Amino acid sequence: MGTPSDKKLIDENGLRLDGRGPDELRPIRIRTDVLERADGSAMIEWGGNKIIVAVYGPREAYPKHTQDIERAVIKARYNMAAFSVDERKRPGPDRRSVEISKVISEALTAAVMVEQFPRTQIDVFIEVVQADAGTRIASLTAASVALANAGIPMKDFVVGCTAGKVEGKVVLDLSKEEDNFGQADLPMAVLQKSGEVVLIQMDGELSKEEFDSAVAMIMDATKRIHEIQRNALVEKYQNIEAGGEE
Ligand code: UDP
Repeated sequence: MGTPSDKKLIDENGLRLDGRGPDELRPIRIRTDVLERADGSAMIEWGGNKIIVAVYGPREAYPKHTQDIERAVIKARYNMAAFSVDERKRPGPDRRSVEISKVISEALTAAVMVEQFPRTQIDVFIEVVQADAGTRIASLTAASVALANAGIPMKDFVVGCTAGKVEGKVVLDLSKEEDNFGQADLPMAVLQKSGEVVLIQMDGELSKEEFDSAVAMIMDATKRIHEIQRNALVEKYQNIEAGGEE
């Protein structure tokens, strides 16, 4: 990690490089039905992140040995486009994308009523077309909306956010520079109603007090983020009622 030599990440008024206060989110926008062929889809723009999620299923799990006789298997595949980052990313899966796909699959499994669809799979294709830090939690947040958009029965919504430590201060929703040069990064996702933690990872170091304060900031932010998820889904039904495009 370390500090960029030319600029401070937090100024004397406590404002961050992009002008945000410590507990402010970057702008977030979610749209549903962005793809015609998927059963459900969503696009999220979160700061500079742009991510598209396509959901297919539940459909018979294939190959057969991947079937679970008691529940649907959620197969999330997180992929970063080669042009999504400053330095061209080598196409295809790497350790990071395999890990992110796994933690996203597990988090979504906690939210979906998987026991209603034995022997099936639900595919969740995640394409990051522009990356700007926090893509795993933005992907999860959008995937949850895309699953609901596909009409898949869910117990709860997954909502994600990060917090971290930058120049000794705990701040919400790290930007790319803060992620690169900060002292800690804590991505977390919870089930909206129950508050159950379904993803938590950490990079760097936080004291117990800093950790508690980061978690509290995230929990508070998930309420605001869930409103955006809900509005994205409501918007769709308002369009249908008004006779507009679906
Ligand atoms: N990143 C990159 N190249 C890579 C992987 C990541 O430039 O091969 C950037 C990208 O902007 C990403 C950020 O580094 O959002 C932080 O990556 P991290 O692994 O912490 O995951 P994320 O914060 O996106 O969940």
